[in-house]
Amino acid sequence: MKTSVILHGLRNEFSLDQMKACIVLAEKYGGSFRHVVTGLQIIGIEKADKEALIAELPDGVIPVVHRGLNSLIACVGKGHCKNGQMETWELADYIEKNFYGKKLAHKCKIGVSGCGRNCPDAMVKDIAFIGTSQGFLLAVGGRTGHNPVAGTILARNLTIEEAKKAARILINWYSEHGEPRERIHNVLVRLGNPLEGVTL
Ligand code: SF4
Repeated sequence: MKTSVILHGLRNEFSLDQMKACIVLAEKYGGSFRHVVTGLQIIGIEKADKEALIAELPDGVIPVVHRGLNSLIACVGKGHCKNGQMETWELADYIEKNFYGKKLAHKCKIGVSGCGRNCPDAMVKDIAFIGTSQGFLLAVGGRTGHNPVAGTILARNLTIEEAKKAARILINWYSEHGEPRERIHNVLVRLGNPLEGVTL
């Protein structure tokens, strides 16, 4: 039976050496590549070979979990794009290093956008940070799917450090309170804003 594996690299980037190693693995196990929203997918491999392929992935390349923090997309942000209002990589790297792959009640996608043009489609992510001239706007509970909704704005004008703290609180809160298969949107509706009254 055929299956696939989705691969993730820091900042969704793959070095040449990582990419070459992945190509060798795809070839070895009879697969080919597709780009999907959570990463780089090797498709068409035998189910029996999946664990062996994962065990041979190069350093820095990991398989994407299904239920958990499985998507973190940041644009290049201020300093790399003329439109950028906020730098994005420091915040995205903090989330990646501390929380990427964390098992949660359901999938959790995060978008970090350097400005309101919103190239990473952050407003339809579970957690969104969007750069403005005053700091990051934070929106939570966005999603696509059958009933798409934009995230609810929970905070504005956050510094990078405040945004890191907000991300930490939100992810840990979702980890603690999310019921099986419950997206953060529903937890927010059920329990209210966890940042209410919190000094970031
Ligand atoms: S969201 Fe803004 S800062 Fe980021 S890449 Fe797009 S235009 Fe540039």
